[in-house]
Amino acid sequence: MYDFIIIGGGIVGMSTAMQLQQAFPDRKVLVLEKEARLAEHQTGHNSGVIHAGVYYTPGSLKAKFCLEGNRATKAFCDRHGIPYLECGKVLAATNALEMERMKALWERTEANGLERYWLSAAELEEREPNITGMAGILVPSSGIVDFRTVTEAMGREFRTLGGEIRFGSTVTGIEELRSEVRIHSDRDTVAGRHLISCSGLMADRIVRMLGLEPSFRICPFRGEYYRLKPEHNRIVNHLIYPIPDPSMPFLGVHLTSMIDGSVTVGPNAVLAWKREGYRKTDLSLRDSLETLSYPGILKVLKQNLKPGLKELKNSLFKGGYLKMVQKYCPMLEKADLMPYPAGVRAQAVSRDGKLVDDFLFVNTARTINVCNAPSPAATSALPIGGHIVDTAIQQFHLGPRADSRVA
Ligand SMILES: Cc1cc2nc3c(=O)[nH]c(=O)nc-3n(C[C@H](O)[C@H](O)[C@H](O)COP(=O)(O)OP(=O)(O)OC[C@H]3O[C@@H](n4cnc5c(N)ncnc54)[C@H](O)[C@@H]3O)c2cc1C
Repeated sequence: MYDFIIIGGGIVGMSTAMQLQQAFPDRKVLVLEKEARLAEHQTGHNSGVIHAGVYYTPGSLKAKFCLEGNRATKAFCDRHGIPYLECGKVLAATNALEMERMKALWERTEANGLERYWLSAAELEEREPNITGMAGILVPSSGIVDFRTVTEAMGREFRTLGGEIRFGSTVTGIEELRSEVRIHSDRDTVAGRHLISCSGLMADRIVRMLGLEPSFRICPFRGEYYRLKPEHNRIVNHLIYPIPDPSMPFLGVHLTSMIDGSVTVGPNAVLAWKREGYRKTDLSLRDSLETLSYPGILKVLKQNLKPGLKELKNSLFKGGYLKMVQKYCPMLEKADLMPYPAGVRAQAVSRDGKLVDDFLFVNTARTINVCNAPSPAATSALPIGGHIVDTAIQQFHLGPRADSRVA
C-alpha cells in the first residue's frame, strides 16, 4: 500500500511528488504517468517563459504563485545547475486602445508588487530597435528556461529520496473507499491512502472517475508557433509581448527567445479537436463530442465567435498569423516563419460559459485534484506543489513534516 499516489508526470505532478517526499521521507509515494517519459504534454510544449506576474488579478492564486514561482524556479535552477536566463520582457502598445489597456496593466503590476519601468516610444526604440510602439512596459524579472529539464530534475530528486515513477501506466478507474483509494490502470491496480491528480488535459475525466460530476470541462486550445530563421536569433533583446485583450486568458502572439538561442513567435489560441493532438489535422471523435456537447464551451464559442474565427483563419493562413506579429515587429516577412511544434492548453470552462481564470482544485476525503492549471502553472509549479502538500497535511491529518521546505 502506498501512502500517496500521484497521477501525472508533468511539472505540477513532479513538483508535488518531490515536495511530498521531502516533507515525508518515510512515506511511500508513487507517480503514475501514461507516457514513456516526463513532461510529454503541456510541460514539454510551451513557451518556456518564467513569468513575472504581470497579468493576474491581485489576490488570486495565479498572482501569488506566479510571483513566488518566478523566484523559486530560478533558485531551483541555481541549485540544480539548470540553465535559465533572466532576460526581462517588454510589453508594447501599438494603438490607442492598447495604450488604455497597457495603463490598466501598469496599475495591476503595481498592485502585484512587480518591479517594472514605463518606456516612452523613444526609450522603447532605444531598447528594441526592431520593435515599434507608442510606449512600453519593461519587466526585468521575466526569464526563460526549458521546463522539461526542470521537471526531469524534480523527477531525479524525487527518485533519489525514494519515490517511484511508473511510466506507461494509464489510469482508467478510481475507487475512493473509506480507508484507501484503489487506482486501476491499463496495467494493474494499486492502492494508496491518498490520491493527488495532476493530470492536465485529462483533469475532468479523473474527477469523473471519482464518481463526481465536475462543475467544469477541460477545453483544449492549441497554441501554434513558428520559429524565426536563425539569422533573426538576435532580433530582440527581451521577450516581446503585445497587449492582450483583458477578456481572454491568452497573452497574444509574442516573440520569445528560447533557452537554445532560437526565437519563436506564438502561441495563438485555436480550439483543438483532440486533447493531446499536436498536428493541425489531429482529430478525436470522443474529445470533439465532449467539447461540443458541453453547454459552457458552446457559450464561450458563441460569445467569442468573431475573434475565434479570426484565430482560425490566422492558423490556416501564414499571412494572417504574420500580421499579428508585424503589428509590433514590422520587419518580419512570411519567409522568416519556419515550422515549430504546437502545444495544447488545458483550460477549464464552467457550465455557465466562463473560462475559469484562477487555478482550481477539487478535493474529496482522500483526494486532491488539480483541475485548472494553465499558464503560468509551469512558472508556479513549485508553489502549487507546496500548496498541495500544505493542503494534504491539513486535510489528511498527516502530522508534522520532516523538512524545512527547500525544493
Ligand atoms: C502553448 C502553451 C504555452 C505555454 N507557455 C507557458 C509559459 O511560457 N510559462 C508558463 O509558466 N506556463 C506556460 N504554459 C502552461 C504550462 O505549460 C502548464 O500550465 C503546465 O505545464 C501544466 O503542467 P501539468 O503538470 O498540470 O500538466 P501536463 O504537463 O499536461 O501534465 C499532465 C500529465 O498527466 C498525465 N496524465 C493525464 N491523464 C493521465 C492518466 N489517465 N493516467 C496517467 N497519466 C495521465 C499526462 O500524460 C501528462 O504527462 C503554456 C502552455 C501551453 C500549452
